[in-house]
Amino acid sequence: MLLFTLGKDGKIELMINCPKIKDIKNKQVLVRVDFNVPLKLVAGKAGNKNAIWRVADSDRISSALETINFLLDNQAKVILISHLGRADGKKNHDLSLLPVAKFLKNNLDLPVEFVNDCVGVDVAEKARNLRSGQALLLENLRFYPGEEKNDPHFTKQLIKDSAAEIYINEAFSASHRAHASTVGLAKRLPSFAGFNLKREVELFSKALNDIKRPLVVVMGGAKISDKVATMQNLARLADVVLVGGGIANAMLRAGGIETHRSFIGADEEKETEEIGKILQTAKDILGEHALERVLFENVGKDRKNLPLPKIVLPIDVLAGVDANAKESEQIALLSDVVDTDNDRDIKYLDIGPETIRLYRYILQGAKTIVWNGPMGVFENPVFARGSREVARAIARASQNGAISLVGGGESNSVINRAGLYNQFTHVSSAGGAALEFLSGEKLPGIEVLEK
Ligand code: ADP
Ligand code: MG
Repeated sequence: MLLFTLGKDGKIELMINCPKIKDIKNKQVLVRVDFNVPLKLVAGKAGNKNAIWRVADSDRISSALETINFLLDNQAKVILISHLGRADGKKNHDLSLLPVAKFLKNNLDLPVEFVNDCVGVDVAEKARNLRSGQALLLENLRFYPGEEKNDPHFTKQLIKDSAAEIYINEAFSASHRAHASTVGLAKRLPSFAGFNLKREVELFSKALNDIKRPLVVVMGGAKISDKVATMQNLARLADVVLVGGGIANAMLRAGGIETHRSFIGADEEKETEEIGKILQTAKDILGEHALERVLFENVGKDRKNLPLPKIVLPIDVLAGVDANAKESEQIALLSDVVDTDNDRDIKYLDIGPETIRLYRYILQGAKTIVWNGPMGVFENPVFARGSREVARAIARASQNGAISLVGGGESNSVINRAGLYNQFTHVSSAGGAALEFLSGEKLPGIEVLEK
């Protein structure tokens, strides 16, 4: 894989498409970062103009720092752009990047000024007055619908107002989306890969080229429509797929198991088409691998040989009335006692203790582990155990020599809460993008850099 990148000496390597640009000094450099970080409310009320938010977790910021510091040290004029949350093309005070600008300035001591918009006269003025070795952070790109639509007008406006001469993508986690800030800009400006993006692409490519088996993929989380599609490819590549979280609910339901009011990826009433699509893909995956069995040898204390289905679904779950429930109920899913009470007002919110035990066994025998997505609503301590125990089991397998690639915003929070950050081969802040890349799909934001 050939990616344009920045040389450590400040010169730009592989200047195939931009012979005019020799280095970045005094250049206006637009950097797409992923500052889509979790925020916490510190004053006021969510939804109100007086609400004050603070950065709750800075992993994603850290992963862009090498590139940002490099550009500043080499006297570039840096303009940072990012999305935050699902703004859906509208301004939203709760999704402002202002708390990130404060974090960069106050906690990291970076010379960054915040601009209240990502296009417009204010941006144009501040961009033109920007001095070398200084940076701007522009407001959330997704306040404009043109960002997610990859609208050429929006792209051109971003370039014009920021007076950009060079584009750098340092948002691997957003590169599976063909948006204005990932693909649009890269097509119109001399474009380069940031250090972290390059590192992740190389690392994942290496893992893919020479897979140490068995490869166990662990999938959880809530972004089901994305993940279920990726799972189709990943399941072919993997020896075993362990499923948890919301995506397990979808797979269970597709397999004909009662899931009551569990979340399966979309609003049941409003998005029936989406639900139908998710269930169909889930059924296809189960059908494709229904007859495959994998033998795991010498697993667990009793050194059993376990014949397993390739797609392993939870055998029990913890259920509750909703995500904030103070109590949970353990429900066995594959018991002889048929659940006739099939319309209860409960949701499956974590994998159960039997499932934890099973997943632990399987993970012990893995040589490569790819994990994305929490096993349950870990934000609530009542439903945090599944994610924590799976994280621990993966960490233990890594200590015993397995390669472990872990990704995802919320998955990172699980790891941080469990104090396991340094226990894996690689922790990426990218979830969906990492899964897509590992499943062999081409990421539009990376492909465009290779041209
Ligand atoms: P990541 O950021 O690691 O890629 P996702 O964004 O896909 O993961 O999903 C994380 C979210 O999934 C968490 O906020 C968690 O509360 C939610 N989640 C996990 N299990 C369930 C479940 N059973 N029902 C509803 N939501 C769930
Ligand atoms: Mg997430």
